[in-house]
Amino acid sequence: MSKPTTIRAVVPHVLMADLAEPFAYSQAWYRRRGAMLVEVTTAEGITGWGEAFGPPELTAPVVAWLAPLVVGQDAMAREAIWQALYNRLRDHGQRGLVVEAISAIDIALWDIAGQATGLPVHRLLGGPLRTEVEAYATGFYRRERDDHADYLAEEAAQRLSEGYRWLKLKTGWGLAEDIALTRGFRAAIGPGVGLMIDCNHAYDAGTAIAYGCAVADLDIAWFEEPVPPEDLDGYLEVKARQPIPVAGGEAAFARWGFRDMIVRRCADILQPDVAACGGISELKKIADMASAFGVRVNPHVWGTGVAMAASLHLLAVLPDNPPGLFPRPPLLEFDRSPHPVRDEATTMPAVSAEGRVRVPEGPGLGVAVDRAALRRFAA
Ligand code: CA
Repeated sequence: MSKPTTIRAVVPHVLMADLAEPFAYSQAWYRRRGAMLVEVTTAEGITGWGEAFGPPELTAPVVAWLAPLVVGQDAMAREAIWQALYNRLRDHGQRGLVVEAISAIDIALWDIAGQATGLPVHRLLGGPLRTEVEAYATGFYRRERDDHADYLAEEAAQRLSEGYRWLKLKTGWGLAEDIALTRGFRAAIGPGVGLMIDCNHAYDAGTAIAYGCAVADLDIAWFEEPVPPEDLDGYLEVKARQPIPVAGGEAAFARWGFRDMIVRRCADILQPDVAACGGISELKKIADMASAFGVRVNPHVWGTGVAMAASLHLLAVLPDNPPGLFPRPPLLEFDRSPHPVRDEATTMPAVSAEGRVRVPEGPGLGVAVDRAALRRFAA
């Protein structure tokens, strides 16, 4: 029998835009950048939005394949739907595109549940523990120029003037260059600014250890993805043999993908991405597992306002780890690299002069999607 929250349609949107200026991380150049948003509608006319991390033209067909399993189900039965989708493709898709597609559907179902009940997602999750979070600025990518130190310093000055107090530098350009770049960047931003480094698994354990040791005096909050995500023994080596806390997990998937990282204590800080690891439902489970093992969680975010809103609702309920009168709450990753689809198709939260972001308070995710922009960027 049809309920008001019976799912009528599941529609993936592949969105793509050319970048005015290409940028690179240690694995590839970006000349175009896109997003894959999923629109789920119910019999009563509620629209929920979800998002998948990963190549939009590859995740969208997975969503389209899964859609018949979701249409006709009750959107409130998020857990049942998640398990049905994962189990249906378990033999073929335990990580990567399949779990990213499930993530997008799950996020949309949480958006619907919030709108159906008139509550923000963080209240459905039992929160809030906190109503605002401190943001760190991701950016500082490589451009097709030679004056890397100069444009990175300019970009840093811009972010600091906007209120950010934490900056994450992209590295992975070769050991000697990384050491010089990191030392120059710290000198440019001064000693009082939080700094992280992220080499996007450009190194093997030995090189990562050499890099970490060479910049350990620069007060670096974490060293992100030092080695490839499959190399858990490499993570353990890097963690043991250089002094900077190790972060990783944006390329790990679902509770089973994080189980081994957590049990073996491969990282000091885990970074599940809500649009990749299995959605809001799965990230909460991963964070609770991490809490039981004393591992910090700072979600990875690199998408549109949909992924940003989903992450903020989770950040509102992630446990302080460890708890105390003066805990160290999780930080919001605020990607400031160019993303025309994000900027024009979705609403993004504001950063205060103190570098803080408020958790959305409207029903559901509390994010608005511009349909005219969807048509403009449709690929
Ligand atoms: Ca990263």
